[in-house]
Amino acid sequence: MNRPLIWICCMSLMLTATGVQANDGLVEDVVLAVHGGLGESPGVLTAEEERAVRAGLEKALKVGHQLLQEKRATSIEAVEAAIRVLEDDPLFNAGRGAVFTSDGRNELDASIMDGRNRKAGAVAGVTIVKNPISAARAVMERTPHVLLVSKGAEEFARQVQLELVDPSYFKTEKRWRELEERRKKEQAQPQGQSALGFPLDPDQTRRHWSTVGAVARDAQGHLAAGTSTGGMSYKRYGRVGDSPIIGAGTFADDTTCAVSCTGHGEFFIRWQAASDISAQIEYRQVDARQAVDRVINGKLKTAGGEGGAIVLDRKGNYSSATNSDSLWRGWIHANGELRVELYPAKP
Ligand code: ASP
Repeated sequence: MNRPLIWICCMSLMLTATGVQANDGLVEDVVLAVHGGLGESPGVLTAEEERAVRAGLEKALKVGHQLLQEKRATSIEAVEAAIRVLEDDPLFNAGRGAVFTSDGRNELDASIMDGRNRKAGAVAGVTIVKNPISAARAVMERTPHVLLVSKGAEEFARQVQLELVDPSYFKTEKRWRELEERRKKEQAQPQGQSALGFPLDPDQTRRHWSTVGAVARDAQGHLAAGTSTGGMSYKRYGRVGDSPIIGAGTFADDTTCAVSCTGHGEFFIRWQAASDISAQIEYRQVDARQAVDRVINGKLKTAGGEGGAIVLDRKGNYSSATNSDSLWRGWIHANGELRVELYPAKP
C-alpha cells in the first residue's frame, strides 16, 4: 500500500474510532429527542419550508417535554405524544403526508418499545388508522402480540376505538405530485429496465424519506423508542420496511439505550441496526455517540445503506448520526432548552 493511502486509511479508522463522524456530539441531560428522517439535501428547501420543518420538530419536542416534566408522564407516553404531533403534520412522511406506494396508496408502519421490559408493539401496512403509533402502543399493551399487519391491524384498531379515517385523509398534493413525477420517469425507462418497486428515486435530491421517530427517558429513568412512517416513496404495495420491525428501526432497553432509525429500510432490517447500536453499548462498552457512529457511518455506509438514527442512553446522553446529507432532528433537556438541526453537524 502506498503512503498516502495508508495515511487516509489510518485517519478514517481514527475518526470512526473516536466517533467524530457522529452528529451533535454526546449531549448530556436530554429527556426527549425526535427525528423527521432524511429530508431534502441542503439548499433544496426554501427558508420558509425549513422554518416549517423546524416548527414541527419543535412542537413535538415541547408536547413530549410538557408531558414528561409537568405531568410526570412515562417515556412511552412522551414518545407516543411526540410522534402523534409529527404524524398529524403533513410535512413528514408519517400519518398525514405519507408517501405513496407505486400503485398510489398510503400504507403506514409504526412501532414502539418499552425499555423497562422490552415489551413492544407494531403495525404494518395500515391504511385507515389516523395515528399508527397509537395502534402500535395498543398492540403492545392490549394484545399478547408484537406485530399486527394490514386488515388485522385495522380491525384491532377499530376494536380498541382508535380514530379511523378515510384513506384519502393521508393524501397530500405534494406527495401525489412526487408520485406522478416518479411514474413519468419510470415510463421513460427503456422496456425491461423499469425500477418498479425499487424505491430509490434516481434524483437523489428529492428523496422525501422524512419518516419520524422519538426516544425518551422519564423521571424514573425508563427509556422508550418509537418510529412511524409511510415507508419509502414508490415502494411496492405490501412492502414493509424497518420502522415496524423491532431491532431494525426501533429498539429500547433500560440497560443500554433507546434508538429510532430512518433510511433505506431493507438495510436496517438486514443489519438489525437499532439493536446493533444497543449491542455496541452493551458489549463493546462504547458511548452512545460511538455506537451510533459505528453502525450508521461504519457498517451501513460500507454496505450502501443510506440512513441515520437518534439514540438516548440510560443516563440521558443523546447522540445521532447520518451517512446522508440530512437528518431532521431535535432534542430537549429537562429544563426545556431545546435544539433542532436539519443537516449533518460539521466535524
Ligand atoms: N426506514 C423507512 C422504510 O424503509 C423509510 C424512512 O426512514 O424514511 O420504510
